[in-house]
Amino acid sequence: MKKVAIIGCGAYMDSGYGCPGEWRCLKAAQLGEGKFDEPSMVTALVTCECPGRTVAPNLGMAMRLSEMKPDVIHLSSCMVGAKPGCPYTSAEERAKILEEATGIKVVLGTHDYH
Ligand code: SF4
Repeated sequence: MKKVAIIGCGAYMDSGYGCPGEWRCLKAAQLGEGKFDEPSMVTALVTCECPGRTVAPNLGMAMRLSEMKPDVIHLSSCMVGAKPGCPYTSAEERAKILEEATGIKVVLGTHDYH
């Protein structure tokens, strides 16, 4: 089974805009729906915190402590599609930073649920 790490936008999740990170990303990963091309094991769910500097180190810590290296990293749909968008870093830029820091492919988005 493919192993995946998910990065969520903390500002979105903490503000009660309809997703405190409780099920959408996890359901899509488990069923292989949305941006997941097969049922996948979530090895880490890391919350971004403004301005986003903690993401790469926190993901690295999760990988070290869990001793599980994900095959793919997904930026959550709230992070990729939020309107207004992240004022600090575009999803594409964040994906590039994470790919360079980890050597792991980053996919933009997780699910299509409402
Ligand atoms: S830096 Fe951007 S992506 Fe990260 S929590 Fe803040 S608004 Fe969300």
